Amino acid sequence: MKDKILSIVENYERDPGRLMDILLDVQKAFGCVSCEAIGLIASELKISEVDVVQTRSFYHFFTKEPVGKYAVYLNNSVVSGFFGMKEVADEFEKQTGIKFGQKTADGLISLHYTACIGMSDQEPAALINSVVFTELNREKVRKIVADMREGKAVEAMFSQYGDGVNAHPLVKSMVKNNIRKTGKVTLGEYTPGKGLAKALNMESKAIIQEVKDSNLRGRGGAGFPTGMKWDFCARENDSKYVLCNADEGEPGTFKDRVLLTERAAMMFEGMTIAGYAIGAKEGVLYLRQEYVYLKNYVENVLVELRNKNLLGKNILGKGFDFDIRVQFGAGAYVCGEESALIESAEGKRGEPRNRPPFPVQKGYKNKPTIVNNVETYCSAVKIIENGAAWYKAMGTTESAGTKLLSISGDCKNPGVYEIEWGMTIAEMLEMVGATDVQAVQVAGPSGICIPPAQFNRKIAIEDLPTGGSMIVIGKNRDLLKDVVLNFMEFFEDESCGSCVTCRSFNMILRKQIEKVVEGHGIKTDIENMTAWSEIIRKTTRCGLGQTSSNPITTTIKNFRELYDKRVKDVDYQSDFDMHKAVAESCEVVGRIPNIHE
Ligand code: SF4
Repeated sequence: MKDKILSIVENYERDPGRLMDILLDVQKAFGCVSCEAIGLIASELKISEVDVVQTRSFYHFFTKEPVGKYAVYLNNSVVSGFFGMKEVADEFEKQTGIKFGQKTADGLISLHYTACIGMSDQEPAALINSVVFTELNREKVRKIVADMREGKAVEAMFSQYGDGVNAHPLVKSMVKNNIRKTGKVTLGEYTPGKGLAKALNMESKAIIQEVKDSNLRGRGGAGFPTGMKWDFCARENDSKYVLCNADEGEPGTFKDRVLLTERAAMMFEGMTIAGYAIGAKEGVLYLRQEYVYLKNYVENVLVELRNKNLLGKNILGKGFDFDIRVQFGAGAYVCGEESALIESAEGKRGEPRNRPPFPVQKGYKNKPTIVNNVETYCSAVKIIENGAAWYKAMGTTESAGTKLLSISGDCKNPGVYEIEWGMTIAEMLEMVGATDVQAVQVAGPSGICIPPAQFNRKIAIEDLPTGGSMIVIGKNRDLLKDVVLNFMEFFEDESCGSCVTCRSFNMILRKQIEKVVEGHGIKTDIENMTAWSEIIRKTTRCGLGQTSSNPITTTIKNFRELYDKRVKDVDYQSDFDMHKAVAESCEVVGRIPNIHE
């Protein structure tokens, strides 16, 4: 073990800032990051064991004990649940003889649940040793487990590859793009290097002005004006960094997966233009671990860009140096928050920072940093190429351009759609072939759940903003049990734990909604959930806590009758069951319980 860990640490030049990569390599090599490994890593990096433990313990894909030779991570998100996740889980348990959370006695197979892996258009899906398996059913599970028992390589368990780059020799994945509608910006025509060549002939200030004039706003969900962010950072007098947030973890979103697959060069080009505009020389693509199947491909795209002199030293002979490295996450939803992402890219726990200072002042390695989403960088390329006016001619007055939507759930054609901002929900449902719709979850669990009476509302930053996740919920679904409860379990798991209210109230809210779903709720539970949600929203540090109660508050607001039908019409009811409490002692002494005696 010592020699292997030494070689891993040396591979990253003994840099503690690369702790994430080191732990990922150790996890891959040994199936876990054991206490012994922690001691060795700490001593080689000259940091404390606590520093290593705190990073190891934060992320879903690091384990203290070895996982199975085949580690199955089954996605347990809402959409996966819609399409048979429970049957798939049941079949895995039946075939392996173990429960989720366990490992077979021979160490061959371990079963784990995981949050959304970005495959909501092809559920149920799982990662097996980081290889994606989609559209699972009982029959497929039986074959997979039989293949495991024969010792087959995971990659050899299927031979049908997805479309486009998914079938590239460096990817060879069964994932499908499911691109249903292309627009003029991110999924339109693209000539690599054209936008960058134009940018390098412009003053950096003029680039920022063009992006400002275009009214481009962050495509990850927060919607902050991109040009303004670049401007703030460019004004700082220090070395700077460009980070790309490819950690799309909002359940139901997968559009960045498609851009990373089909538009990786465009995303890197956008980062390079941003680097030139703000005066940075280095960029980092922070890519979620769930998309590690794209690693070899995106790294090869970087090599090709360097070979074409679109990246690296003296780009296109213009005296501008800029290069990019890829940093993988290890499974933590909160790392989609920009300051948490920066912490993670530095090798630490992905805990959001207090602000100010903002990342544009003190970000990655404490230097001025811009963090933008994959789709934002891709959009910037087209804005530079075609101009702000061209871009602003699409969309609405306040929401310019196009938006990629990841549409999943109860519809005929789940997939990725490039639409102009301003489309109504009713138009969207017609586009995807959805009928008998009970609700639409706009912008994922942290967004809002709207009823049919609001389907005339517009998908736009000024009305219904979204980072892209759109989940269609059919009339046949139990909205509280199948959706709201699942979302609250998700937030309970994903809270980083720093804020007391986020750590504890999300758990309490989950228990309350569980109580209502199980038919034990009473009228005051509804008022309590509303009041407690407000407390979390007002007393938490980052967007996770500020939005984590939305599944409850927006359904209480828009689907109140579902709650009223389920709760008892009393103001107070004790949870204490006297019969149950004394049953055991009565049995021991042979007495018939009579609580009135
Ligand atoms: Fe962490 Fe939740 Fe606080 Fe955000 S709100 S910093 S996720 S505890």
